Amino acid sequence: MKINSSPIQEISSSLLQAKDIRLLLKRDDLLHSKISGNKWRKLKFNLLKFKELDVEKILTFGGAFSNHIEATAAAGKAYNFPTVGIIRGEKIEPLNLTLTFAESCGMRLKFISRTEYREKNKPDFLEKLKKEFGDFYALPEGGSNALAIKGCREIITETEEQLEILPDYFCVCCGTGGTMAGMIAELEGRAKVLGFSALKGDFLTQEVVQLLQQSESPLYENWQINTDYHCGGYAKWKPELIEFINDFKRKNKIPLDPIYTGKMLCGIYDLIEKKYFEKGTTILAVHTGGLQGIAGFNARFGQLIDV
Ligand SMILES: *Cc1c(COP(=O)(O)O)cnc(C)c1O
Repeated sequence: MKINSSPIQEISSSLLQAKDIRLLLKRDDLLHSKISGNKWRKLKFNLLKFKELDVEKILTFGGAFSNHIEATAAAGKAYNFPTVGIIRGEKIEPLNLTLTFAESCGMRLKFISRTEYREKNKPDFLEKLKKEFGDFYALPEGGSNALAIKGCREIITETEEQLEILPDYFCVCCGTGGTMAGMIAELEGRAKVLGFSALKGDFLTQEVVQLLQQSESPLYENWQINTDYHCGGYAKWKPELIEFINDFKRKNKIPLDPIYTGKMLCGIYDLIEKKYFEKGTTILAVHTGGLQGIAGFNARFGQLIDV
């Protein structure tokens, strides 16, 4: 399960030049051929743990468009173990592209109501699932547990091996905040971390604090979550976002997804424009993957994102 580091690529643009900002992109979208981005980082140590245990399958939770469901299903196929996905909300047929892919990897899907889904971490709910599916290794929604955070620490250790100096800022997009928590823990206060929330609301700061506590890391203070660029919430979009993603791809030949990485980079460019970063700043942004979501997004909203 040894994998190569993801490459770091420098982005050039007239804006970056004008504002004297260096922007580097860590291409975690290229990390693994089947299981891309931060979902692979989060799965890695969980898969190693799972292999040590005497259980046969992995069971996890997610929404119908979840990249984590997709990644877990792909891991099951690639490493040959059964997977079960507990999906929030009623079953809508035909299944969307994410769930069709998950099933094609052999994942068994069970749909539960949103009310029931809220109970998913309660012990008796897990007991009920064990009666139905047999014993399993459970991964939480979004895959964020202590072992996932350990995996995300490697974003930083790798970067330190690849670059001679540490960037001033690390940028990452946030769903559960697990990826960001791993980066904060490993940086130990040495550089600033700026998270871009893909969700509406202010709860993510607290989630990151909890995840840091769970992994027995100090909390540090050199990080912040920006909530200005989610376009109204998870999977919500604005024409400016779509235009940014398509333009970024034309200019840099790098695809971005509309749920996470597109919003983060759109935010970074806007902050650069607004002189949020001092002249001479080096920013390393993590491309957390999520590109599987583009086809589903286009199927829902029309062919907005160029492929
Ligand atoms: C899941 C996901 C995230 C969110 O990661 P968290 O660790 O849950 O904050 C960010 N980017 C992409 C592409 C994702 O698929």
